[in-house]
Amino acid sequence: MAIMKPLLINNLEFAVSEQIVSGSVELTSLQRLNDLLVLKIERQQTAKIHFTLIGEAKKFSQPSLHLTIDAELPAICQRCLNEMKVPLKLDFDYLISDSEPAGFDESDDLDWLESAREMHVWEVIEDELLIAFPIAPVHSAVNQQECIQYTKQSGEKPNPFAVLKDFAKKSS
Ligand SMILES: [Zn+2]
Repeated sequence: MAIMKPLLINNLEFAVSEQIVSGSVELTSLQRLNDLLVLKIERQQTAKIHFTLIGEAKKFSQPSLHLTIDAELPAICQRCLNEMKVPLKLDFDYLISDSEPAGFDESDDLDWLESAREMHVWEVIEDELLIAFPIAPVHSAVNQQECIQYTKQSGEKPNPFAVLKDFAKKSS
């Protein structure tokens, strides 16, 4: 079930008491990501954004959060210019502390978040999705058949809207 209200947590307390929260976020609640995607696809699209956040008191030398994101975001394939879904399965560990942990290495798998009484969980998710979203998404190797099929239909680079119309005619 989608959580409609912004999710705010005291991140240090959440980690120390090893809480867990899991749910999904509406794309329209993530304004920056939504703007980026709408620019590219020019109409409202459905997206899937599931997440689980787990507080860990002792996994590392200090309290941490483990975040997993399972998302499918709408995009236009840059090879065949048809709509596609970009699947993103991400996971992160964040140390929680007031200042950057001593000996902290950015290149490590560990990230760091400043301890906050009201950390906006959706913003963290949105930041990670913005970083992970490909600049030029294309159908994966498995789905390349789709690319080839669309490209064959019109020879040259198809106009995405014309192709959509064709597609609608065929399926009706
Ligand atoms: Zn394609």
